[in-house]
Amino acid sequence: MNIINNSDKAQKNLLTISETIAKARKIVIKIGSNTLAKEDGTINIEFMENFAKQCSTFIDNRKQVVIVSSGAQVAGISTIDRWARKKDLHYRQALCAIGQVELMDCWRSCFRKFNLHVGQLLLSKDDFGDQHRTLNIRNTLFTLVDEGVIPIINENDSVACDEFSIGDNDNLSALTSILWSADLLILCSDIDGVYSKNPKEYKDAKLIENITDVEKTKKSISIGKANNFGTGGITTKLEAAEKVLEYDVSMILTNGAKPNLLQNLANGTIKATLFSPAQ
Ligand code: GLU
Repeated sequence: MNIINNSDKAQKNLLTISETIAKARKIVIKIGSNTLAKEDGTINIEFMENFAKQCSTFIDNRKQVVIVSSGAQVAGISTIDRWARKKDLHYRQALCAIGQVELMDCWRSCFRKFNLHVGQLLLSKDDFGDQHRTLNIRNTLFTLVDEGVIPIINENDSVACDEFSIGDNDNLSALTSILWSADLLILCSDIDGVYSKNPKEYKDAKLIENITDVEKTKKSISIGKANNFGTGGITTKLEAAEKVLEYDVSMILTNGAKPNLLQNLANGTIKATLFSPAQ
């Protein structure tokens, strides 16, 4: 298993999480549905407000932030309070159309408290396969960020389906990180990082703190199923890591529910999994 202890770390010259954050200027942060939703399925505004505050601290420290936010479907269900059980695609897409507005309304008002504006980008797989569109997305991202606006991205769920959809925001955030030439991608999930086995089922599951070889890690861990609201589970997180590492972008998989997550990661007081590009 690819667990690297501190002495290995020194030998391999790998950075710690706090060193990685200190060095990163351009950071993409992905927030999963399970992090955004409370247990009753409603959107967790307190979390969003606190998160906006932490992002504004990053920005005060001369960092640039792009957010990839899930939660359209969860917000849709909690807003309209029906169709929760409907599995048909058109109902799910309709829920996303309703929820996306609510979600962005929450983000807008949370960031407003810290004098920050937000801009929305809804993307689909096709957008990343087309040179002209990727150039436009890149230009929009650079312009928003240069002007101090926080871009908030989600998949265009009401349009994208089947072969046209990326299907999960882990991969979408990886593609965004590559497109924007980010230094670091932070995936906020409902687990502390990559474990040797599913920690919700096995007490002896061990957190893997450093990964440089995703392929090797995949072979050594037991991969469970996806959770309640999110799409991908650990599989899509490893796919995202594989994508970004190829472009020398580091990635942190961490638990979004931890208080003051971003600052505590930066202080090195939270344990998570750091994926580092090979030296
Ligand atoms: N785009 C979906 C939503 O906003 C979530 C996809 C995901 O959780 O990865 O509900």
